[in-house]
Amino acid sequence: MYVISFANQKGGVGKTTSAVNSASALGVLGKKTLLIDLDPQGSSTSSVGIVKNSVKYSSYEVLTGVCNDPTKAIIETKFKNLYVMPSNITLAAAELELATQPERELFLKKALDKLKRSNFDYVIIDCPPSLGIITLNALTASRGLIVPVQCEYFALEGLSQLMNTYKSVKKHYNSRLNITGILVTMYNPRYKLSSQVLEELKRYYSFQLFDTKISRSVALSEAPSFGEPIYYYSKYSKVSLEYMKLAEEI
Ligand code: ADP
Ligand code: MG
Repeated sequence: MYVISFANQKGGVGKTTSAVNSASALGVLGKKTLLIDLDPQGSSTSSVGIVKNSVKYSSYEVLTGVCNDPTKAIIETKFKNLYVMPSNITLAAAELELATQPERELFLKKALDKLKRSNFDYVIIDCPPSLGIITLNALTASRGLIVPVQCEYFALEGLSQLMNTYKSVKKHYNSRLNITGILVTMYNPRYKLSSQVLEELKRYYSFQLFDTKISRSVALSEAPSFGEPIYYYSKYSKVSLEYMKLAEEI
């Protein structure tokens, strides 16, 4: 069971879109994959066709220990090899509730340790846009970190802070954590700015950059409202193929 977090404290950079579509693509490649929604917005939950306010147990109950058996919070989606642990707005309370607990960074890790018998090949975690306790739980439970970066203005802002958080988590909480890669999203080579940002990313982070870049695409922003990952919404679109390539790189 290989656990990967999609994290970046900036909102709107493509974390959810990339977590959902990477998880879906890994499923298509035959890997049994669990997508964990750790954002109170619950966007990855609805992106795979689950009505987020209808679920009995969510990542909130798992993180806070209300639900001791994490398998109870896992829902099989209608997509190949794809399962989801949903979230909704109730998760917003977890940040405060966990803050004063001992070993507050370990709740997710302990829950995932109970999933050994579920035989997941991959667990993909969609993090909230902050570096608080929820993201700390995700990074402590992960082997890999994928950082989606929107290939536009101010893309690099905050990236060094995120890298410092990564180093600090690795040093203090989880020595097995590694950077799987930095993922360029919403790339449009016709925008001069997009190419400039890419050049700058290559200059500072060349070793960590994925070869695959995710292009800007309207289909990708439409698919969530149909509750479908891009592979099922528009199988042969350019971005669908890009996420398949990314899954192979992962
Ligand atoms: P985050 O989870 O980091 O906040 P999202 O994945 O929700 O970011 O993306 C933010 C917005 O941008 C969403 O409306 C999403 O549909 C859109 N979006 C994400 N990736 C792309 C892309 N490659 N092309 C076009 N729109 C995208
Ligand atoms: Mg998101």
